[in-house]
Amino acid sequence: MISMRNVDKHFGALHVLRDINLEVPRGQVVIVLGPSGSGKSTLCRTINRLEPIDSGDIAIDGVALPAEGKALAALRAEVGMVFQSFNLFAHKTILENVMLAPLKVRGIKKDEARKHAYALLERVGIADQADKYPAQLSGGQQQRVAIARSLAMDPKVMLFDEPTSALDPEMVNEVLEVMVSLAKEGMTMLVVTHEMGFARRAGDRVLFMADGEVVEDTEPETFFTTPRSERAKDFLGKIL
Ligand code: ADP
Ligand code: MG
Repeated sequence: MISMRNVDKHFGALHVLRDINLEVPRGQVVIVLGPSGSGKSTLCRTINRLEPIDSGDIAIDGVALPAEGKALAALRAEVGMVFQSFNLFAHKTILENVMLAPLKVRGIKKDEARKHAYALLERVGIADQADKYPAQLSGGQQQRVAIARSLAMDPKVMLFDEPTSALDPEMVNEVLEVMVSLAKEGMTMLVVTHEMGFARRAGDRVLFMADGEVVEDTEPETFFTTPRSERAKDFLGKIL
């Protein structure tokens, strides 16, 4: 579902992604771990071309990522992304936030968009807040809306970049629960997170990154119990 071959990227002199090779089959949940600055966010952002790459190939469901234009917009719609900050439209209701992209990009009818959006809000457990504005919701609720908004485009892949890092601790689980249920439903997911419980429970695979390189690529249990590299041991020693 996601294929990266020999992907390289620099920010000026900084070699931020070094020869990344990654094949993610349909339905797999990949957890991306690594120290701050190791390239995790950049990796996510290249997958839907929020960041261009210097060289290599990226394909989604067998279709090479186009560089620009309409084809890029269409393909981007298939890759949902949820960030640390929710970025909801403050002057639109929760329901309108979820309806917006399908209306604009997919050109579907308003009634249909409303029904679909409502169903998605039910799926993330927040349909009773449909007519409120983002500021009236807690951070955990806003992040669930952001997930519903991404799902509204029927993505083939969901990327999560530290989706719970900005949340108060008591709101982390409600967001992780939504992600666990998505995983169980078979969504292909790439998740940058520091939530090790979630990684062990929902992850099929761990990528450990350091200095722009994938240093380990293994099953979560193996990674957490018997990391091979010194850098992974060092990382785990600091967080566990
Ligand atoms: P992570 O998400 O693992 O913390 P990032 O992918 O955000 O790492 O960043 C990797 C490296 O690239 C860092 O050193 C960061 O400072 C640098 N970087 C990220 N974005 C940019 C940018 N737009 N311009 C220049 N350097 C950047
Ligand atoms: Mg990051």
